[in-house]
Amino acid sequence: MTAQSNLGTALVTGASAGIGATYARKLAARGYDLLLVARDISRLNTLADELSASHGVIAEVLGADLGKTDEVRRVEKRLRAEGDISLLVNNAGIGPRGALLADDIDYLDQMIALNVTAANRLAVAAAQAFAARGKGSIINIASAVAIVPDIFNGTYSGSKSFVLGLTLALANDLKDKGVRVQAVLPGFTRTEIFDRVGGSFDNIPADRVMDVDDLVEAALAGFDQDELITVPSAEDDNLVKAYQEARFALGDQASRDRPASRYGVASKVAA
Ligand code: NAP
Repeated sequence: MTAQSNLGTALVTGASAGIGATYARKLAARGYDLLLVARDISRLNTLADELSASHGVIAEVLGADLGKTDEVRRVEKRLRAEGDISLLVNNAGIGPRGALLADDIDYLDQMIALNVTAANRLAVAAAQAFAARGKGSIINIASAVAIVPDIFNGTYSGSKSFVLGLTLALANDLKDKGVRVQAVLPGFTRTEIFDRVGGSFDNIPADRVMDVDDLVEAALAGFDQDELITVPSAEDDNLVKAYQEARFALGDQASRDRPASRYGVASKVAA
């Protein structure tokens, strides 16, 4: 029997492929035990066997369709009950089938169930459980389109803006609780995401698509550097700082007792 890691267990959702499987590999190499969640149990078992053999960690598999409420609750229960879970990689997600105006609205509902409802439930459950334990970390996989929703399918982008917004608010809630949060904003990353919806990365210029191993390596470096928002390909990190400053500056003016003067409203509030 393998000895339990002192880093604890990382619960990785969407661990059967792509970004999640890559996190699982890199976290195992760091010495985390793993609880691997996705629907495809046979792929998860293969990965768990590989990682326990190569890194001597405990790798357990939990099959769940996170598009279904009762299955999300099963995962949530483990998060809340098992004190050795020290890290949630909240990654499972699906992409759009095409442009929003041509997309299937029932599919968009499924996307929201997974990308928003399940992601929210697991992040909030982890935040509550980790805060009570005074330790733990949450890595939420958002997307670059969270900050530029204009350029992509709006429901997908909005689902990722939700993940980013949730992360920013949780960081504030958790800052004195010994719990860390990170939002990762990948750009195009070569995984199965488009294959699953009949698409491909072939039409995207190669210099816009990152290798998944590079992506996760950079995201983990951002985690190690205590970043709240990690944009793995952003060369100028002052832009992330400026984005935060602009948000707070606008936020400071966004709730006042009178309309801005440019609207010419004779305010009920005395000047
Ligand atoms: P991927 O290669 O298609 O992997 C998606 C993972 O999510 C798989 O492990 C899949 O496993 C799991 N999953 C899908 N539906 C699920 C469900 N209903 N219940 C449980 N697990 C489910 O995609 P990826 O690119 O790695 O995506 C991972 C995350 O990165 C997503 O949140 C995505 O939005 C985000 N992201 C990706 C890119 C990109 O360009 N690749 C860019 C920005 C953000 P099963 O099929 O076994 O369930």
